[in-house]
Amino acid sequence: MAHFHYLGIMTNYRCTAACRHCLYCSSPAWQNGYLTPQKAEEISSLLHSDGVREVHIGGGEPFLDFEGLCALVQALGRHHIGIQYIETNAYWCYDHHRAAEKLRRLKSLGVDYLMVSCDPFHAEFVPLRRVIQFIQWCQEADMGFFVWKEQYLHRLLESGLSLDRPHTRAQLEQALGKDYIRQTAAEYGLGMNGRALNILEEYGTPQPIENLLTPTPCPSLTKLQDGHVDLEGMFLPGNCTGIALAMDKVIREEAHETYPLYHLLSTQGLAGLYDFAVVGQGFSPAASYPSRCAFCFALRAFLSKNGSYPELYPAEFYDNRFYKRS
Ligand code: SF4
Repeated sequence: MAHFHYLGIMTNYRCTAACRHCLYCSSPAWQNGYLTPQKAEEISSLLHSDGVREVHIGGGEPFLDFEGLCALVQALGRHHIGIQYIETNAYWCYDHHRAAEKLRRLKSLGVDYLMVSCDPFHAEFVPLRRVIQFIQWCQEADMGFFVWKEQYLHRLLESGLSLDRPHTRAQLEQALGKDYIRQTAAEYGLGMNGRALNILEEYGTPQPIENLLTPTPCPSLTKLQDGHVDLEGMFLPGNCTGIALAMDKVIREEAHETYPLYHLLSTQGLAGLYDFAVVGQGFSPAASYPSRCAFCFALRAFLSKNGSYPELYPAEFYDNRFYKRS
């Protein structure tokens, strides 16, 4: 029986954007490459052997290596794993001919559904014209698609903002209201983790660490049923980004004996991680954090810098939360 309910494949962490709400802290600053055809074959074979029959594909930005993306689609096809949809921020939709060629190629490989991201966070990096042209060119190519989220496409179109360039926070505040970041995060129902922790730190209420310390493990770490497998074959459980376990260890249920820190966190909760990092490793926490995940991030970021824990992965994740545009 398959272990996984909802599974995505992350082709890369690198992206043309560095959105405020990005769970994976993706940005143009990432160095760690793209899923290779060999790894795509290996992962597809492993997922098939575990009974997985459909996945979605995301990133980072999967279209950053189109040949790599096609190799993944073909590998999944060889192992009879369907593709629910492929995510993109449409940055590549500026050249009609080349975009049409990509859509035609994906259709010929059996892909029939794409998801385009559209919201005020992406609008800081991707001109809205690219999203509009993505929609027009998908319709021309008879490629299925959905906009995540449609309401923001309308809101941005009605805002009067230029369609042909990205916009700064100040410009978006002027057009959408001073509170657009907090409002968008609330409307999205974000899993407030990764870079979204910065939104929480700006708008959330600090809670004393005593209130956050619980011995109860978090469901997303105990169940391991939903998540993503990345370009190195590492499984990223649910919203707990910055923690990863080798997919084959998860499938063979060997994660606990392989990853001591994961074992600690998934059996003794944040209280267990706190004792280890503070009492054991000398971490000095702040007096308060806006959420349990924000406190968990701080403990893990410290351990990731001051020890060798393969489950605190990828290491670049902890550096990319505070991405600064060059
Ligand atoms: S506190 Fe840590 S383990 Fe729990 S959900 Fe948040 S990130 Fe995951």
